[in-house]
Amino acid sequence: MSIALFTLGGTISMAGGPSAGVVPRLTGADLMAAVPGLAELDRPLEVQDVQAVPSANLTLATMLEVVDAAAQAIADGATGIVVTQGTDTLEETAFLVDQVWPHPNPFVLTGAMRNPTLAGPDGPANLLAAAQVACSPAARDLGALVVFNDQIHAARWVRKTHSTSTAAFASPNAGPIGQVVEGQVRILTRPARLDGVPARAEPAELEATKVALYTVTLDDDGLLLRGLADTHQGLIVAGYGVGHVPAALAPVLGELAARMPVVLTSRTGAGSIARNTYGSIGSESDLLKRGLIDGGFLDPYKARILLRWLLATGESLDEITAAFAQHH
Ligand code: ASP
Repeated sequence: MSIALFTLGGTISMAGGPSAGVVPRLTGADLMAAVPGLAELDRPLEVQDVQAVPSANLTLATMLEVVDAAAQAIADGATGIVVTQGTDTLEETAFLVDQVWPHPNPFVLTGAMRNPTLAGPDGPANLLAAAQVACSPAARDLGALVVFNDQIHAARWVRKTHSTSTAAFASPNAGPIGQVVEGQVRILTRPARLDGVPARAEPAELEATKVALYTVTLDDDGLLLRGLADTHQGLIVAGYGVGHVPAALAPVLGELAARMPVVLTSRTGAGSIARNTYGSIGSESDLLKRGLIDGGFLDPYKARILLRWLLATGESLDEITAAFAQHH
């Protein structure tokens, strides 16, 4: 039994480039060589270097290729999966993987905040902890996990909450579901798995499906929303607080919701939107009455992944509403 390690680049793999600044260039073998303690794991890591890119360049199509290769690795006898990538988009890729990973085997994503040229790089510790989780029976049946700073996060809740800290990853709504202590995997709570997305979306369908994300800001004129239904098939609104927008935007969003799914989320970074606390024009109850979908606890970025997938697979408005209701 082995662990399958897929590398996608990111800070964990960065070293000096031809010009100023670090760039992704280290292979999986390089990463493993920098980890004291990895050799003591009784599972060998089998590496597939997929890409070496900043995570800003990752696509849903790339992640689906990794998921397929990971499924093949499990079929070939791997006990679990580790993916290393950049941290910038890790909360989104992990959420996607969680939606489409049906296997009980742990699928663990990790990375680093300090690159290997800095004092105290966190990549080696994160990779070791991720490998320990990937081969732990305790981590089975939990879907996709993000292991960072010795914490184990459920992909559905994890956020990158800091631009530089090695404790950048947190699950503001729920906390980490476990920790790695002295190399041992301790799961503190076991969230039930969500249903996952209903059908496989093909990369071409995803590519063709345009979902916009609109963050409401003070004194917002809503100009960017004009004509949106001509170019996009769906919209995520990151509203104020529990899901509010300026009154002038409410009819605009209502009209859009008559033409395509519009999901209401909060821009705050934690907590759910409300349903029936406030009654003004542009409040959450007003927007839901106008046909917006309740995004619950989902943050805008994960909501966008989910809506894009559901639209690409031809789900109905009722099915889309039900999929988001899993996050209430
Ligand atoms: N910009 C980097 C990336 O996401 C940051 C990181 O890996 O931590 O690729």
